[in-house]
Order: sequence, then C-alpha cells, then structure tokens
Amino acid sequence: MGIAIVAGTRPEILKLAPVYRSLKTAGLEPVWIATGQHGDLAQQAEESIGIVPDMRLPGGWDPRSLTDLTAGLLGQLGLWISECSPRAVLVQGDTASAYSGALAAHLHRVPVGHVEAGLRSGDPANPFPEESFRRLIAPITDFHFAPTRLAEKNLRLEGIKARRIWITGNPIIDTVLDMAAHTRHPAVLDALKPGERLVLLTAHRRENWGEGISSICSAARQLVERHDDIRIVFPAHSNPRVRETVLAELGEAERIHVTEPLSYPEFIAVLKASHLVLSDSGGVQEEAPSFDVPVLVLRETTERQEAVDAGVARLVGTDPEKIVREASRLLSEKAAHREMADRNNPFGDGQASRRIAEILKAELSPARAGAGAA
Ligand code: UDP
Repeated sequence: MGIAIVAGTRPEILKLAPVYRSLKTAGLEPVWIATGQHGDLAQQAEESIGIVPDMRLPGGWDPRSLTDLTAGLLGQLGLWISECSPRAVLVQGDTASAYSGALAAHLHRVPVGHVEAGLRSGDPANPFPEESFRRLIAPITDFHFAPTRLAEKNLRLEGIKARRIWITGNPIIDTVLDMAAHTRHPAVLDALKPGERLVLLTAHRRENWGEGISSICSAARQLVERHDDIRIVFPAHSNPRVRETVLAELGEAERIHVTEPLSYPEFIAVLKASHLVLSDSGGVQEEAPSFDVPVLVLRETTERQEAVDAGVARLVGTDPEKIVREASRLLSEKAAHREMADRNNPFGDGQASRRIAEILKAELSPARAGAGAA
C-alpha cells in the first residue's frame, strides 16, 4: 500500500490534488481517501480539479456536531488504516478530517505528513476550530511541510525539531498557476458592464456566522452605494448558516450578485477579473496575490501574516465602517491599489508538490527508514 491522502473539504482537495499527482509521478502510489466532510462542495471541488477518489468513507455522522464528526472520522479512518497499512498518511491544514486522519495514523504507528504545517494565529478561538486542529496535529506529525519560513519558525517555537521541517511553499500556488490557463467563464461575469470594476466577496468562517456576516453584507451594500462603477460577486458557501443570512441581506441588492458556490475554474476566472477581494477565506488570501489582486481580510486575526507583511493583504475585521473605509481607499486611490497589487506572492512558486513528493520519496526509502530517520 502506498501513501494515503486524506481530504474532505474544498480547500484540502484543491491543495492536495497537485500533491497526489506528484506522488504518482514519483512512484509513491497515492491513495485518495475522500472523507465527505464537505459533501457536495467537496464533490464539486474534486470534479473541478479532476480528482477521482480511490475510496470514500461511509459517513453517517452529524456534520453540524464537531464532536460527532471528529469521532466518526477517527473511527472510520482508523479502521481503514488498520486494514490497509499505508506507508504514510498525508493530511492538509486544519480541519476535522486533517486532525482525525493524523490521529488515526499516529495511533496505528503510521508516519504522518502535514501539508501547510505551522500556520498560527495565536488565538484558539480565531479561527475556530482550525487553530486548535492545526496545533493538535503538530506533535503527532513526522513530516512537517511548512509553506513559508514564518511557518517553520512557528513550529520551531513549539519544539518541533528542525530536521523534521521542510519549507516547500503551499501547493495551492501549484494549483492556481495551473488553473490560470484553464479557467471557465461563469455566467455572472456577463453582468459586468463596460467600465465597471469587479469586487469579489467571500465569507464563511464560523466566527463570522450571524453578526459578522450581517456586518459584512452591510458593508457590501454601502460600497455599491458609494461607488457607482463597482459590481460585487458573492459566491455564497453552501453552508445554510451562511447562505440564509447572505441571501436575506443581499438577495435583492442592486449590483450585488449572490451566486451558488462556483466551480474552481469559474472562481479563478472571477478572481482574475477582480479589482479587489474582500474575504475571510484562507485559501483566497493565498491565491489572490498570484493575480495582483489586493485582499482585505474580513477577520480579526490571521495565521497568514506573510500576506500582511508582504503588503498583499490587510486585516480589516468585520466592522462595516472599517471595511468601507479601507475598500473605498483602494477603489479611489490608484497608488494605494498599485502598492498592494505590485507585490510578489509570498506563499510559493508552484513547485511545492514536487518538493513534497521528493522529500517523502527520500524519507520513506528503505535505507533512510532503516537508519531511524525520525
Ligand atoms: N473556491 C471555489 N469556489 C467558490 C469559492 C471558493 O472554488 O465559490 C475556492 C477558492 O479558490 C479557494 C478555496 O475554495 O481555493 C477556499 O475555500 P474556503 O474559502 O471554503 O476555505 P478556506 O480556504 O477558508 O479554508
């Protein structure tokens, strides 16, 4: 049995797809396990990116309960690992699927590789529960694939040994650079009139459910009132806690288009065409700088400080006044926009997956394993 890849949410699928392909090229026989955590959204992402899972977990948990979900995933992944004995298990990021996959592997003494290791906001409540999941994964991981030097530093501060950490870049950059040449034009772009500028808005984080999303929607309404040459596209997450609020607040608003979740090739087409992004998403912050689109981050804290330090993103939280002020500055002042747009993407060079595969090939080679590499 080769290397198991555990993926259940949209961002995990988009970030692990190029890793799966690189492992295949390296002869490491990857096995893609779809946990089903994100249901339809996950299947849309798999189709968008050409992934056909080798195996789907039976599911049956209540996705609204983090404990039921985590316990269910742990049990089902544990069973599969004990029956199939993979050489290693790869998880990505900070979801219940990632944590359960890492713990199940660890408990069966199977080496764990963590892609996108070392992100830290410093606040277990923000983003919740992601910050806790990623912290819990670190001590049971054998191969830490840190996207940046800052992520490596965070891991070192928690006592992870330097020889267990590799700075690879984030494979989302591999995915986005590849997709840039294969985008698909979504119908919503036809609404854009000549001379109009596009603003992409996404918001789905648990901490923002309810009041936060309402405030973000209020800022969106004020922005279209204040700038008559902008049009906002909001592909609303399929989670009903998000969709219901967004449709109630913005469903009828002029020059604001609330859409279904877009397929990845469509989403990247919208991102490429955008003048500005307002988002609480982690992945979108990593992708936007590849197309020179500034991001205003609709969160109070960030585990992607690199984007702020590089000047490609700015934290604005969910206070409508602050969102409108910062967005208006970027919409009105060309120099301010250029200053953010003209920076390099700090998250990678499109080679992360190849590096991860090469490292795993070397580390899992019989000679290395026999030498007690861990
Ligand atoms: N995305 C997509 N369609 C959409 C919205 C987002 O394909 O309608 C992609 C986006 O490009 C990014 C990923 O989904 O790669 C981000 O997922 P999400 O915001 O759900 O999660 P996060 O990154 O915040 O964990």
